[in-house]
Amino acid sequence: MRLGVMGGTFDPIHHGHLVAASEAAALLDLDEVVFVPTGQPYRKDAQQVSPAEHRYLMTVIATASNPRFTVSRVDIERDGPTYTLDTLKDLHAERPDDQLFFITGADALAEILSWHGVEQLWDLAHFVGVTRPGHELTDKGLPADRVTLLEVPAMAISSTDCRNRTERGEPVWYLVPDGVVQYIGKYHLYRPESEDPAPTT
Ligand code: ATP
Ligand code: MG
Repeated sequence: MRLGVMGGTFDPIHHGHLVAASEAAALLDLDEVVFVPTGQPYRKDAQQVSPAEHRYLMTVIATASNPRFTVSRVDIERDGPTYTLDTLKDLHAERPDDQLFFITGADALAEILSWHGVEQLWDLAHFVGVTRPGHELTDKGLPADRVTLLEVPAMAISSTDCRNRTERGEPVWYLVPDGVVQYIGKYHLYRPESEDPAPTT
C-alpha cells in the first residue's frame, strides 16, 4: 500500500490540511492518508498547545467522511516531544509492507535538513512538500529522488488564524469542517475562560 502520512499539530485541523492531503493522495496515487496529531510539538514548545485528546478528536471528526483518511495515535501516545523520525519508525513497525509518503507544508519542508536523524528519514519515507500561501516552493538542495514538491490550490488558512478568530469571537465557519466548528464551541476551545462559548449557529 502507498500510505500518505500527514503530521501536524491540528490545533485545530482546517481545510488547508484536508486539501493538501487530498491533492497529495490524488497526484501520488496514495491508497490511504493517515493523519498523525503530534504529542508535544518540539518546534512549538514555547507556545500553549491544546490537549492532545481534543486535537485528536477534531482530526477524527474532520476526516471521518473520507474513506481514504484515517487518524493515528502513535505520536500522542508516545511520551516526550514528537520527532518525525519516531513517527515514521512507529508507523513502519505497524505496517512494514507499506510505502510511506510524509506530506508536509513547504514551510516545514524547509526545515527538513535541520531535523534530528535526517539520514534515517530518507530511508523510511518519501517526502512530499505542498505549497501554502506565503511560502515559496524552493528545493533548498533537497534530494530530488526523495522529495516531491506539489502545488495545491492556494488556501490561506492557518490554525493560528482560526484560534485568533475564535478568541476574538469571529467565525471559523468554512475554514474548518462544520463538526470542528461545533466541537470548538462545545469545549470552549481558544476562548478566554470568562467568555461564553463561540456561537455554533
Ligand atoms: P499553526 O498556525 O498553529 O502553525 P498550521 O496551520 O501551520 O498551524 P499545522 O498543524 O502546524 O497547521 O500544519 C501541519 C502541516 O500542514 C504543516 O506541514 C503545514 O505546513 C501544513 N499546512 C498547514 N496549513 C496549510 C495550508 N493552508 N495549505 C497547505 N498546507 C498547510
Ligand atoms: Mg504551522
